[in-house]
Amino acid sequence: MTKQKKLILQIIEKSHVHPTAEDIFKEARQHMPKIALGTVYRNLNSLVEDGLVRRVTTSGVPDRFDQVKVKHDHMVCRSCGQIKDVETDGILAQLKSLTGEDIISYELNAYYLCEACKSKEVNVNE
Ligand SMILES: [Zn+2]
Ligand SMILES: [Zn+2]
Repeated sequence: MTKQKKLILQIIEKSHVHPTAEDIFKEARQHMPKIALGTVYRNLNSLVEDGLVRRVTTSGVPDRFDQVKVKHDHMVCRSCGQIKDVETDGILAQLKSLTGEDIISYELNAYYLCEACKSKEVNVNE
């Protein structure tokens, strides 16, 4: 693994905010001032292909990146795109029993309105 790739992986594994490529680029530059945005994108794609990093795609906002060490799914705010982790251990077992198949992997984004956006909506209606 190249130094750049390792650095990007470390940034994602340490982060708790599901960073975008831009966020990762800004952080990476603190450690490697000469790193290019293109390099970050290339390494992100390669980390996703290697299964070391998970890409979280939601409509209307840039892709975000996430660690894969702890199995979890995502709650995505429909309004601001903020992502919250949710542990959903039972879903895989349920899919298996519903289909009788060995499920290899699945992606789940549950959309909702976060507290901040919920209170904003209330204000709009007032
Ligand atoms: Zn929100
Ligand atoms: Zn996550």
